Amino acid sequence: MKQVYTNANRTLVLNVQNLLERAGIKTLLRNEFAIGGMGELSPFDAWLEVWVVMDADRNRAKELADTAVSKQKAAQWICNRCKETNDPSFDYCWNCQSDAESGDVIDAGH
Ligand SMILES: [Zn+2]
Repeated sequence: MKQVYTNANRTLVLNVQNLLERAGIKTLLRNEFAIGGMGELSPFDAWLEVWVVMDADRNRAKELADTAVSKQKAAQWICNRCKETNDPSFDYCWNCQSDAESGDVIDAGH
């Protein structure tokens, strides 16, 4: 088994796993239940991890994961009010607290 992806953001990790499963790659999650009973573990140790069951799938899985993650990164949005660029995970502008609905999504294709 090989680890292909891990991130502090569990949603991102689950998205990657979902994508790999849909591509027909068998995956496993590690640290799925780590949060909550962490105790003395550092946050890093408790990051959710996606592993591929078949080593042969690793390269393809990595590629898919990288593509998925860079797409997520590209989905930053610009606040209409103050023109600040916001991370896709922000529902509200970090600068002026306008909500994301009123922002323009940056189109990565242009
Ligand atoms: Zn703003």
